[in-house]
Amino acid sequence: MGKACQHQKLVQSDICAISYCADCGKMNLALGAITLHLTVKQVEEIAATMQSGLKIIAERAETSEALALTNGPGAGSLH
Ligand SMILES: [Zn+2]
Repeated sequence: MGKACQHQKLVQSDICAISYCADCGKMNLALGAITLHLTVKQVEEIAATMQSGLKIIAERAETSEALALTNGPGAGSLH
């Protein structure tokens, strides 16, 4: 405490940047106007949760593609 945090930038993309303070063991996730101060553990959990969500979306996309195929060519198409 008392000493200013020394955040080290880890990675940056077009939409977000992540820096890390070794003193606090906290990561800063800057996303647009929002900055989240999170522990490494929290970031791990968020990343895992996001992966789970993305997996479900991917699975649903596969399922709807499979349905479109079983409905045959031209199904749902009214050109
Ligand atoms: Zn710090």
